Amino acid sequence: MATFTLNPRRRGRPAPELIFGDLWPYDPAPETADPKLLARYGLFINGRFTPAKSGQVFDSINPATERKLAELARAGTADVNAAYAAAQRAFDTTWGRMPGRERAKYLFRIARLLQDRAREFAVAETMDGGKPIKESRDFDVPMAAAHFFYHAGWADKLDYVAPGRRVAPLGVVGQVIPWNFPLLMCAWKLAPALAMGNCVVLKPAETTSITALKLAEIIQDADLPPGVVNIVTGAGEVGAAVMGHRTAAKVAFTGSTEVGKSILRSLAGTDQKMTLELGGKAANIIFDDAPLDQAVEGVINGIFFNQGHVCCAGSRLLVQESIAGRVLAKLKQRLQVLRVGDPLDKNTDLGAINSREQLRKITALVKAGVREGAELYQPACVLPARGWYFRPTLFSGVTMSQRIAREEIFGPVLSILTFRTPEEAVEKANNTAYGLSAGVWTDKGARILKLATELKAGVVWANTYNKFDPASPFGGYKESGFGREGGRQGLLDYCRLA
Ligand code: NAP
Ligand code: MG
Repeated sequence: MATFTLNPRRRGRPAPELIFGDLWPYDPAPETADPKLLARYGLFINGRFTPAKSGQVFDSINPATERKLAELARAGTADVNAAYAAAQRAFDTTWGRMPGRERAKYLFRIARLLQDRAREFAVAETMDGGKPIKESRDFDVPMAAAHFFYHAGWADKLDYVAPGRRVAPLGVVGQVIPWNFPLLMCAWKLAPALAMGNCVVLKPAETTSITALKLAEIIQDADLPPGVVNIVTGAGEVGAAVMGHRTAAKVAFTGSTEVGKSILRSLAGTDQKMTLELGGKAANIIFDDAPLDQAVEGVINGIFFNQGHVCCAGSRLLVQESIAGRVLAKLKQRLQVLRVGDPLDKNTDLGAINSREQLRKITALVKAGVREGAELYQPACVLPARGWYFRPTLFSGVTMSQRIAREEIFGPVLSILTFRTPEEAVEKANNTAYGLSAGVWTDKGARILKLATELKAGVVWANTYNKFDPASPFGGYKESGFGREGGRQGLLDYCRLA
């Protein structure tokens, strides 16, 4: 272990030891804003917070400390029925009849109130889900506000969504979202539905419902008519009740391919509309003419962003054989200086894994990778004693048949494969059941354009990764689902055309 005495602020204090490699210890820099959490949250139905009819509750846990944050109501069928009845009433009496320019005012209000309370929301999001504060502060919360602003701008221009056609809202929409971007997924789901004039029953994930309920506070403050947005909390069976309700004119689901398929089966034969945003196993492809440092930074961002809890994570790296050794060395170096730990610390790069269950899944797949013969690399970082954490992990020498190359890990684990020709890269990238996203790193514009058409992925990033914009539609091919969120295409999924 090395020591250093360089920091003048530390003069007179014992020289701290470097934890590993060249990682300098920083003083703790915790974000201190008050997340303003209540001890207990009800269901948000018809504009009011109410306990579940059964009186049942469950705990929301902070994955970084394993401590309870708040008690949430567990909805039952009667509560889901009440939420749908409120939504249908609001659609028939207010929201569905309101001119778009009036709906826009409410959406602008929600966006601005969210900006006003941005720090509070960022801290709440980090405490509930485990993601680093710099991500919730700089990505999740601003991007959620941006989605409301963007769709507020559309609400009085809906005649341009499908030029030459008239658009009409569908009615009541049921929505179920996952735990990886809790507030942002609320915004992705609510903003286009509301802009179009639909009313909503939404279920957040059991482990991350708090920011959805805080958004309900904003919805109250924005004076949205009661029943336009209803939020019911609970686990998978509540999700199934929301997705299977006969009142829903459309259901929108984001989550795993497995649950998505079961929803698809249960709705077969009905006339309900449906969009599914499911899993992914994206390839990030580096050619030998790419600017390597930039590419390595993009690969790191692509897989370690939000602990790899990202459906479009670049979880497979395809690197051209001639530069594979250099890229691997650079990646290892970069991994050594990633800071893993307290998500509320502003210096933290990787926070906590969202749940014990997810940690178990990641651990099992990594063990499978080792068993199947891939070469494992993990930096020797010290993980906090409490909470659910996983070291950033690289696997080299991976082959297409191994589970770590095929299955979605949804954790900070990168599988590295090599290729020789562009054709081989495309073939390997497309050799997956999924098709959500891909990345290409090369100096040649023509190659980017060619690959963008050949890669079967809803999004192809070129010389960058994980870039989002509310105007840019997002969605999958194959088992990654169907339908788009964002942009004009996203709005088309929330309307009837006449
Ligand atoms: P999940 O298990 O499918 O859960 C997603 C949501 O569905 C949660 O709210 C869950 O409730 C609920 N649910 C569970 N069983 C259900 C059922 N039978 N019927 C209806 N709803 C049900 O997925 P996850 O593990 O939370 O999320 C990770 C997955 O989401 C990954 O596969 C990821 O790729 C995918 N994802 C996709 C996108 C995209 O845009 N394509 C974005 C983000 C995530 P509880 O969790 O409360 O039990
Ligand atoms: Mg939680």
